[in-house]
Amino acid sequence: MVDYQSPKNDMNGNKTRSAIPSSKTILIIEDEADIKILLDYNLQAAGFGVIQASDGEEGLLLAIEHQPDLILLDWMLPLLSGIELLRQLRNRTETRNIPVIMLTAKGEEADRLRGLNGGADDYVTKPFSPAELLARVHALLRRTSGGHNNLLSCSGLELDLERKRVMRDGQLIHLGPTEFRLLEHFLRNQRRVYSRSQLLDTVWGGDVFVELRTVDVHIRRLRKAINIDNKTDLIRTVRSMGYSLEPSAE
Ligand code: CA
Repeated sequence: MVDYQSPKNDMNGNKTRSAIPSSKTILIIEDEADIKILLDYNLQAAGFGVIQASDGEEGLLLAIEHQPDLILLDWMLPLLSGIELLRQLRNRTETRNIPVIMLTAKGEEADRLRGLNGGADDYVTKPFSPAELLARVHALLRRTSGGHNNLLSCSGLELDLERKRVMRDGQLIHLGPTEFRLLEHFLRNQRRVYSRSQLLDTVWGGDVFVELRTVDVHIRRLRKAINIDNKTDLIRTVRSMGYSLEPSAE
């Protein structure tokens, strides 16, 4: 069911949709009718275009077809669960960068963490106030719009500076803060070879006392994290010189 609802009239007969003009479209994936109606009403009143899906499979299809500006994703869904849907969204080029806010039931801390680890950008706990949800939507859209300028990439490896997220061929990668900064540095300066002491200066900062060996430890961790599933090793060790990041030849 694709449901482009018509603008609603408020008590004075004015079209509430035109309150704040917006060309942004939001996809609601939620099976509970009450919540869907509440979300739909408030989002339209705030000027958003709204598309709705009632189960996970339909949600995925609509996300691919319409590429909305943001997705509100319920956790417990028929046919395809929220976490599985999220995984599939993040695996597809067309939907990879669509911001997602999860709607979780109260107290489901584990789900929330799984969601954030699985690539959700934010979450709202049910029951939520429409005002709180709208504030989150606006904040996330501000945070992610123009996000492509903050995307560094090399051979299927992507680092999103805005969202502090790293992906390799659509798969989410978890990095510690030092590995993240190392990778950012390499992505900004691809093919350039850096010695350990140069890396210490730029990535760790000059006034911190760290042994050169520490650099090797973090390079090893970074390598292990980004070269998942036997993918091409993008980090090159240059003997007696240092390290560089090289785009793969494929
Ligand atoms: Ca549900």
